[in-house]
Amino acid sequence: MTHCQTPLRLFNTLSRSVEEFRPMASPKVRLYACGPTVYGRAHIGNFRTFLFVDLLRRVLVLFGFEPEHVMNYTDVDDKTIAAAKAASLPLREFTNQYIALFEEDLKTLRILPPDRRPRATDHIELMIALIEDLIRKGHAYVGEDGSVYFRIASFPDYGKLAHLDRRGLQPGARIAQDEYVKESVGDFALWKAWKAEDGGVGWASPWGKGRPGWHIECSAMSMHYLGQEFDIHCGGADLIFPHHENEIAQSCCATGKAFVRTWLHCSHVLVDGEKMSKSLGNVYSVADVLAKGYTGRHLRFLLLTASHYRQTLNFTWEGLAAAKAAVDRIDDWLARWRRLPPTRFAASAPEGEAFLASFCASLADDLNISDAVGRFFDFLRATNRAMDLGTLLPDLPSIWEIVDSVLGLGTVGPIEALRPPSAHPNAEAVILAGETPPLRVQELLARRAAARSRRDWKESDSLRKAIEEQGWTVRDTPEGQELRRR
Ligand SMILES: [Zn+2]
Repeated sequence: MTHCQTPLRLFNTLSRSVEEFRPMASPKVRLYACGPTVYGRAHIGNFRTFLFVDLLRRVLVLFGFEPEHVMNYTDVDDKTIAAAKAASLPLREFTNQYIALFEEDLKTLRILPPDRRPRATDHIELMIALIEDLIRKGHAYVGEDGSVYFRIASFPDYGKLAHLDRRGLQPGARIAQDEYVKESVGDFALWKAWKAEDGGVGWASPWGKGRPGWHIECSAMSMHYLGQEFDIHCGGADLIFPHHENEIAQSCCATGKAFVRTWLHCSHVLVDGEKMSKSLGNVYSVADVLAKGYTGRHLRFLLLTASHYRQTLNFTWEGLAAAKAAVDRIDDWLARWRRLPPTRFAASAPEGEAFLASFCASLADDLNISDAVGRFFDFLRATNRAMDLGTLLPDLPSIWEIVDSVLGLGTVGPIEALRPPSAHPNAEAVILAGETPPLRVQELLARRAAARSRRDWKESDSLRKAIEEQGWTVRDTPEGQELRRR
C-alpha cells in the first residue's frame, strides 16, 4: 500500500502546540494508551477515546510508521474491589467478565486490538520494584497509615503537563482530615495499605499487605513493555490531571529520563448537549446502540468522524441516523463500482492522486478526520458522476483500500454476488472460484485485465506473479481471468 508522504503533525499536550511527529527510532512508534477500569460496561464516551487511539494507530501506519500499541487493564482499584464485593465474586473472576465485554465491544466497533493488553494484577512485582526505587531515591516515603506516598516536593517539574500552579501543592498545606498521614496534601499513594473493606484483595510487599495505586500501574507497565522513554502516551483529557501528571512524576524520578515525548488527549462526549450521568439515563453502552438497530460500523463512523478529537463530541440519535446514512452511501458506492469491469479503472489517474494527497494532508494536520472524510465524500460524488457518464475512473479498488485503512468500515457482502461472471461475458470478466479475494488481489486483477487489453504481456506476467505472491493463481480463459486460491 502507498503511504502518505506528508510530515505528520500532532498536538502535544506537554508543549501545548502542534509539532511534527518524529519517533525516537523511526519507523517504530512505541505507543501506550490508558485502558479501562474493568468494573462495569464501558460507555460510548470511553469508546470515543479508544476510537481516537485506533485512528492514531491507523494513521501512523498510513504514514509509514510501525506502531507497537500497549493498553492496560486496570483490574484493581477502589471501584473494582467494591463492585466485586457487591457481586460476591473473587476480584479476578469479576473483572474477567468486563474484560470479555470490553473486547467484544472493541470487535463490534472494528477497533484494532492493541498488541499487548497487560493486566495490572499480573504486574504487581514490577510496581513494588518501582516503588522501592522511588523510596531509595528520596521521592517516596511510608506514611503514618502504612501506605507509601510520592513526595511531590521532590520533583520540581510536577504540574508541567497539566500546567498547574504548584503553590497550592506545597508541603505544609494540610487541609483535609484524611490527608494528615501525608507530608503534603498533593502527595499521592503509590501503595495502599490493606484495609478491612479490601477483603481478600491484597499482595505482600516490603510495607506489608496492600495494593498498588492506580498511577503506578501505568508507569510500571508502560515502561516495562515500551522502555523507560517512549514515543506516545494517550488517553482521555480527564486523565491529564492527576493520572498522567503523576505517571510523569513517578517515571521521571525513577529513571531520570523524559518518560514520554508526545502526550495526546481526546476530549469527552456529551449526549444531547448534556454530561452523561446515571440520573439522566443517558449513559449509553455499545449494546444500547445495537439494540436500537444500528451496527458497530454506524457508531464507529459517528464517534470517529463527527468532531476533531480535541473537541467535545455531542452524541444525538439524529447524529447516529446521519452517520448510518453516510455509511449507506459509501456501501452503495462500493457496490456500484464493484460491478464494473476492471477496464473501467485507470491505475494513475490524476483525480485519484489529487484526492489521496488531500486526504493525507487533512490527516497530517493533527488527525483532522472530519476534513479527510469531507474530501472523501467530494471524491465519492465525483466518481459517481463519472460512473453515470461512463468515463474512465481512477483506480478505485486501491484508493478505497487506503481510505478504509483509516475508516475501518471493511468490505460488505460477498464480491461474487456483486460481480457475477455472467454480467461480464467479455474477455475482461473475472471468474471467482471459491472464497472472496482480498482487495489487494482484486486490484492486481483489475490492473492485469487493463494490461492485457492493451496487449502489455510483460506487465500481465509480472502482475500474475504479484497475484501468486498473495496466495492466488490466475488463469486466462476465453471468458476472462479465472482466479483460484493457491
Ligand atoms: Zn493510565
